[in-house]
Amino acid sequence: MKHRGTWSKKERSLRSQLHRLVATADGFVHGSVIEMARVCGNPRCKCALKGEKHVSLYLGQTRKRKTRMKYIPKGWEARIRRWELNYRKASDLLEEISDDGWSKLSARKE
Ligand SMILES: [Zn+2]
Repeated sequence: MKHRGTWSKKERSLRSQLHRLVATADGFVHGSVIEMARVCGNPRCKCALKGEKHVSLYLGQTRKRKTRMKYIPKGWEARIRRWELNYRKASDLLEEISDDGWSKLSARKE
């Protein structure tokens, strides 16, 4: 790659971490896992009798100021939490690479 020689050691490391993450992660999802507790309406259920509400997980995603929610089935919780973490890691790495771009602009360095 032509520009590789001009990258700092830090930038090379960030790019390689991001590259590895994108190449190996089993998924990415932008959003946050939200717990919602509710009562089901059955007067004889434990939620009504003991106040033990039913807890469901949702993935909440805000884009262009709009929030959407998607129910997460039990068997998908671990996967979605992992994908969410992957997204956050990739996003943080890209943000750090962007900081380098900002510094280069400040220093007028290509
Ligand atoms: Zn209930």
